[in-house]
Amino acid sequence: EKFEVKALLEQLGINEVNKGTWTGVEYIDLKGEWLVSKSPVDGKEIGKVQVTSREAYELVMEKAEKAFKVWRKVPAPQRGEVVRQIGIALREKKEALGKLVSYEMGKSYQEGLGEVQEMIDICDFAVGLSRQLYGLAMHSERPGHRMYEQWHPLGIVGVISAFNFPVAVWSWNTMIAWVCGDVCVWKPSEKTPLTSLACQNIAAEVFNKNGFSEGISCLLIGDANVGAFLAQDPRVALVSATGSTRMGKSVGEVVGGRLGRVLLELGGNNAIIITENADLDVAIRGALFGAVGTAGQRCTSTRRLIIHDSVYEEVKERLVSAYSKLVIGDPLNEKNHIGPLIDVDAVDNYLSAIERVKAEGGKELVEGGVLNGEGFESGCYVKPCVFEVENHFQVVQQETFAPILYLIKYNELEEAVSCQNGVPQGLSSAMMTMNMREAEYFLSVEGSDCGIANVNIGTSGAEIGGAFGGEKETGGGRESGSDAWKAYMRRQTNTINYSAELPLAQGIKFDI
Ligand code: NAD
Repeated sequence: EKFEVKALLEQLGINEVNKGTWTGVEYIDLKGEWLVSKSPVDGKEIGKVQVTSREAYELVMEKAEKAFKVWRKVPAPQRGEVVRQIGIALREKKEALGKLVSYEMGKSYQEGLGEVQEMIDICDFAVGLSRQLYGLAMHSERPGHRMYEQWHPLGIVGVISAFNFPVAVWSWNTMIAWVCGDVCVWKPSEKTPLTSLACQNIAAEVFNKNGFSEGISCLLIGDANVGAFLAQDPRVALVSATGSTRMGKSVGEVVGGRLGRVLLELGGNNAIIITENADLDVAIRGALFGAVGTAGQRCTSTRRLIIHDSVYEEVKERLVSAYSKLVIGDPLNEKNHIGPLIDVDAVDNYLSAIERVKAEGGKELVEGGVLNGEGFESGCYVKPCVFEVENHFQVVQQETFAPILYLIKYNELEEAVSCQNGVPQGLSSAMMTMNMREAEYFLSVEGSDCGIANVNIGTSGAEIGGAFGGEKETGGGRESGSDAWKAYMRRQTNTINYSAELPLAQGIKFDI
């Protein structure tokens, strides 16, 4: 059954024509161009949103600066209370928002719901965190002195996000930043503007209901040019940017040039090592979801399988057979496993990668290609494919954001780990093994060089409780759980002298 798009938008407080610059429940109405949101599911226009002009951006920043002066003084547990209410509002809108994520971005409805669940989870995490923004107390080397550290809010946090997790990435950043006392200005992907409006509506309404001013939750609409406003602006204390390595290099350079802070969450090139001691049922299932889930458009998608010689043929056969059972089609229909790529540019990238693998000598095991005909009118549906390759191929060294899986054979464990580490990116990694020595070696200092290393789980599908992010060209940032909150605050070391003397540190004498 086709759903009613208009009714869905209405449920989320969006129209077919929308203002694009918001400081809370209010918008800034200055002339701007229009951004059209088209669904990769059926190629139809869903709605349009006005792009944020430079003038509108300035007005947003004025409000945000003002709001920070108030919000930073609200006790952290009270800030947590607001985030708790946002979590409740998200629970109420879970189905509608999950469906819009699926329709605007193209991931399955199940995954759309999962993404909203992740937002709810991070709200809960942030509420608890609001009472745990701990600093340490140290022993001073001087008598009659006390030393401790405390964490203060940073200021304005700019969030730039990618299309593939159009709503979750925003919540990972904002929910934590808000309990930390920061105000947030979000520049979502230009490919998914409507889901961002829905999120903005949900959060802004809660702030408003609690009597907080405009400027704590702000939204900008536009492409890289609008993202660059945030990167260049010294008023933005932290720019948290999620997207391609190319984007990260640019944002990193611009923010670095003004000595601002960045948190970068960039591309991955994730591998699973399947050893001779793997439980192959678990390994195949993990590899399959990792490679084709979200049509290969997760930063943690499995791109490479590094397989021990002794199980190589069996893994290959079982994978080829599993691929033949995959059903591609409308992601809102739960019978389908795989939906479309985000747009036709992504399809072109997929096709060009396939050509390059072949040109470099890759052997095709499962054929790729673009689907057309009934149900595939958007031109964005592609067949997941598998190639036998060598790790040094140029195309294998890069992240192609599509369901292309590379198989690589190994003999020695050290060789497998160096192959897994032998790419410029360092996000997620996994080993499938029942052998404790292999697993511990993989997790040791000599093992995986990635921010995420799993055993007997695939590379994708992280939980919010851990710190999320990766090394090397993945950018080094950490978001979400553990102590990732520290990136959103500034640390202050305080020494207090309660004696009548003034001893200097390191025993230095300075008597007159
Ligand atoms: P993208 O780099 O094209 O765009 C990401 C965002 O950055 C968009 O909002 C875009 O407008 C903005 N942007 C682009 N160039 C900019 C610039 N020079 N200055 C300021 N802003 C700029 O990425 P995408 O196609 O939307 O997303 C896919 C990529 O994101 C993949 O590489 C994927 O691995 C990565 N990703 C990483 C993570 C992670 O946590 N590590 C999570 C999701 C996606």
